[in-house]
Amino acid sequence: MALVNEHFLKLPNNYLFADIAKKVNAFKATHPKTDVISLGIGDVTQPLCPAVVEAIHKAADEMAIQSSFRGYGPEQGYDFLREAILKNDFLPRGIHLDINEIFVNDGAKSDTGNLQELVRWDNSIAVGDPIYPVYIDSNVMIGRAGTLEDGRWSNVIYMPCTAENGFVPQIPDRRVDIIYLCYPNNPTGTVISKEELKKWVNYALKNDALIFYDAAYEAYIQDDSIPHSIYEIRGARKCAIEFHSYSKTAGFTGVRCGYTIVPKDVTASTLTGERIPLNHLWYRRQCTKFNGTSYISQRAAEAIYTPEGKEQVKATIDYYMQNAHTMKQTLKDLGLEVYGGEHAPYLWVKTPEGMNSWRFFEQMLYDAHVVCTPGVGFGPSGEGYVRLTAFGQQSQTAEALQRIEKWLK
Ligand SMILES: *Cc1c(COP(=O)(O)O)cnc(C)c1O
Repeated sequence: MALVNEHFLKLPNNYLFADIAKKVNAFKATHPKTDVISLGIGDVTQPLCPAVVEAIHKAADEMAIQSSFRGYGPEQGYDFLREAILKNDFLPRGIHLDINEIFVNDGAKSDTGNLQELVRWDNSIAVGDPIYPVYIDSNVMIGRAGTLEDGRWSNVIYMPCTAENGFVPQIPDRRVDIIYLCYPNNPTGTVISKEELKKWVNYALKNDALIFYDAAYEAYIQDDSIPHSIYEIRGARKCAIEFHSYSKTAGFTGVRCGYTIVPKDVTASTLTGERIPLNHLWYRRQCTKFNGTSYISQRAAEAIYTPEGKEQVKATIDYYMQNAHTMKQTLKDLGLEVYGGEHAPYLWVKTPEGMNSWRFFEQMLYDAHVVCTPGVGFGPSGEGYVRLTAFGQQSQTAEALQRIEKWLK
């Protein structure tokens, strides 16, 4: 008899976006003539830019010819892409990485979920709250998170991120082994300054902790005083692993490509105190469980770093950020408390009069026919907030704002 991994059974069945879809479908069933606009789901809407599409066509043509056909590639990614990453994402910021510290992935979700395999199940973890659910759920699956009690996992340290602390958590007052940070943040759309990030790196170095840093939204940063990478902070090479994704940067949610940085200086300890470099372990892990990202996706990603690619990708980000700007202005003018939306495609909106997240969600759905994401779905500190995304088409977003305006007035 095969015994199931019972840790999976601890995960609640309901998935936030499935719950939302159920409620939206119930509304649509009873209001078949009403069209609903979603400012809910975190997927992009704008097509791939021409430079990327051209690279995809070219790569497909190469695959059609015997002499340029490619089969399995290197598990850690092709050098042409890793070199472009080094040269464009890190060197201009004064960050020197070894090419073997870059692992091309099939999107950041896989690696943010999988990297925790490298460390023992009994490490303690701390997460910013609210949070991208993958970090916790992947720890639940391996048995590290404990049990769910009142919406909190018993072995997870929740570090509240609220308006009061500017959505940057307080440094824990006890030792933690692994810390998950995500900036620019999903869901709050807020950022961390270099000074604040430096405190985290120093905490990790002093306490021998690891930081898993999710930089999936770094391309949305509009001001270069805000760190694009944790390696802009001295010492981070010794304690931080960083995740990048082309999903939100260049509309790759359907193409699938990103990369993970595992510096050679990052180590974890055996029970007897021997320091083991995680770079080599991750390489070993990837060679066993991953056969690389498709050649076509990697050529597509490489095209983002050409002069045309850079320009085109920036134009799409500007398009979304224009949405974010209009949304923030309109909602603030309506008297709402709004955070984020300046260096990220998300707005984090405080519900009026302490209304709970789901109630606000339902009222906005039924009265304005606009979908948002209830903040509490991202963690206990998200209660009393909702998330709106700027990933919509501009015309739809403008229409949604008009509806919200009419509803709130
Ligand atoms: C979208 C997102 C990712 C990236 O997901 P992909 O697997 O690369 O599509 C990673 N982290 C956060 C916080 C995200 O919102």
